[in-house]
Amino acid sequence: MKDKDCIFCKIANGEIPSTTLYEDEDFRVILDLGPGSKGHALILPKEHFRDLNALDPAVAAKVLPLAAKIGAAQMKALGAAGYNVVQNNGTEAGQTVFHFHVHIIPRYAGAPKIVTWTPGSPSKEELAETGSRIREAL
Ligand code: AMP
Ligand code: ZN
Repeated sequence: MKDKDCIFCKIANGEIPSTTLYEDEDFRVILDLGPGSKGHALILPKEHFRDLNALDPAVAAKVLPLAAKIGAAQMKALGAAGYNVVQNNGTEAGQTVFHFHVHIIPRYAGAPKIVTWTPGSPSKEELAETGSRIREAL
């Protein structure tokens, strides 16, 4: 299904032009217009899924192999030393376009880290309690 008001549906299906790196029957991979680093790519399914939880499992199964293919090409073509695979779900997690997509962000030697957090130091009890709450929700 497509969403007529969704910009990524339009890009993925070629109605809006993009710098396309790869295309097959399920996906279009494009360059991000606001890249975190040179070569930052987005994997867009051609069908509309709001986020990871809405994604068709058959499409989901193809996403990580495609991410690896794009990441390897970024390293080979651009001299990246590695890459981050980032996927945001929900506004508070940084999702701004509500059509599932995966960021493949090349990382260059000596450049500042892009995906970081400050490690917490939960107690054993807190870890156990948090773990139990999540397990019960599975
Ligand atoms: P997110 O914050 O995970 O929803 O990511 C949305 C990403 O889409 C951002 O990195 C934007 O720079 C990128 N973006 C938004 N509109 C376009 C567009 N028309 N073409 C390419 N990238 C876009
Ligand atoms: Zn869409």
